[in-house]
Amino acid sequence: MNQQRNIVIIGCGAGGGTAAQFARKTDRKASITVFEQGAYPQYSKCGLPYVISGRIPNSTDLIEFSEEWFNKAAITLMLHTTVEEIDGVNKVVKANQGNKSIEQPYSSLIIATGAHPSVPPIRHLPTEKHEVEGVFCLRTLDDANRIIDALTKKTYATIVGAGLIGMEMADCLHSRGMKVTIVEALPQIVSTVLDKDMSQPIQDALKDKIDLFTNHFATSIDQQKGKITHLTISNGETGEEQKIKTDLLIIATGTTPETVLAERLGCTLGKTGGIKINEKAETSIPDVYGVGDCTEYHDFVTKRSILTGLGSIVVRQGITAGINAAGGSYTLPPGVLLTSTSEFFGMEIASVGPTSQHLDDAQSIGGKFTGSSLPEYVPGGKPITMKILIDKKDGCVLGAQAVGSNAALRINTMACAILNRMTVESLRKLETAYAPPIAPTLDVTTLVCDVVAMKYNRMKRSL
Ligand SMILES: Cc1cc2nc3c(=O)[nH]c(=O)nc-3n(C[C@H](O)[C@H](O)[C@H](O)COP(=O)(O)OP(=O)(O)OC[C@H]3O[C@@H](n4cnc5c(N)ncnc54)[C@H](O)[C@@H]3O)c2cc1C
Repeated sequence: MNQQRNIVIIGCGAGGGTAAQFARKTDRKASITVFEQGAYPQYSKCGLPYVISGRIPNSTDLIEFSEEWFNKAAITLMLHTTVEEIDGVNKVVKANQGNKSIEQPYSSLIIATGAHPSVPPIRHLPTEKHEVEGVFCLRTLDDANRIIDALTKKTYATIVGAGLIGMEMADCLHSRGMKVTIVEALPQIVSTVLDKDMSQPIQDALKDKIDLFTNHFATSIDQQKGKITHLTISNGETGEEQKIKTDLLIIATGTTPETVLAERLGCTLGKTGGIKINEKAETSIPDVYGVGDCTEYHDFVTKRSILTGLGSIVVRQGITAGINAAGGSYTLPPGVLLTSTSEFFGMEIASVGPTSQHLDDAQSIGGKFTGSSLPEYVPGGKPITMKILIDKKDGCVLGAQAVGSNAALRINTMACAILNRMTVESLRKLETAYAPPIAPTLDVTTLVCDVVAMKYNRMKRSL
């Protein structure tokens, strides 16, 4: 008689929660236990900025799978329970729930412990011993609730980091009537997803809405009676310092994978510090899987190891680990495309594949095109700018960026092209849907390909 499979999952974020669901779909009889140190079952972190803006009325609306859901699926969910140790020899997970110690044997283990905020070296930040009111990171639902509680008494918000989360937070706090300043160490905003020539028009459009300091570092905070009053920033080129009036500081400078348990168990970590996993989401240790922000995977185009940090990828990894841990067979695509999108201050952006800074100049050529979402003769068309990068060697599409109307949908087409290694020559012939009130005869998606294909053909002829 087959023994019952015993699946244990550490972490009930998007990765762990999804793994639990797909493990259950794969094996109806397996024992599945999820340990979560926090107070909530699986919720959407991506929605946190919109709880803060008030667009989503309650923070608990973000809970995607409730405790009842887990009960009905016969998955044991233990909230407020921290896994302290994994005994890999005897295959037992040791956890604490308040004062209670729990030992849970496993036949398959899924580590989905996520990540914690990376905080740059800013002097006088709060520590465990030294409280400063008004300083926050945004990673959890509790963080969002704390920011909301603080908002009523605050006027001057400063955000350190102009990545996607920093920009989304800037918009949300601006929409709540706050005076917003953003400080970014790099010369541009959203540098992981857009080239400078694509992000510059956005920066220009934001001039009358927020104060933006690119090429500046946050160096220290001032406080009075335990409350933040100013952030000091330093110009990266001149070293000149200035103080920004601040009563709410949000640090949005990325994350570090949470790998302590995995490392102690002996899982191999990669160059990025994330747990190395393969296409089946397996770690270097048999029967132990890794999922989500605690892992590293490779980039489909550059083949480099990267921390992905995108919910869309985490969920796919969760599906893979859940199915495989439960005896099924499923594989991830051979690399991540980093397809992503965001919207702030009424501007939609999206991107897929590496940006120019992640590609060798000798390897790629690119081009841009700005068109309209509707035919020129239909009033109400919205501008859309697209840029694509192709491989000089064979003309295959490597990356694409879009700013404007339906950017995400257009980028999804590009994701399909990259995954299937389409050349710009074949993509420019893509037949897109046309009707005057909906879309133009030739979509920007193919018009940008025309620009780059012609450039590529000229280059080939001149060789
Ligand atoms: C504000 C914000 C906005 C975002 N927006 C987007 C977006 O628009 N699009 C997108 O694709 N991605 C977005 N992301 C990224 C996405 O949300 C994350 O990639 C994803 O949620 C990570 O899921 P995870 O399960 O790997 O990690 P987490 O959600 O961090 O889950 C890990 C869980 O493990 C638990 N845990 C850790 N250690 C232990 C332990 N020892 N014992 C028990 N439990 C433990 C933690 O409490 C945590 O709940 C956003 C993230 C944030 C913070």
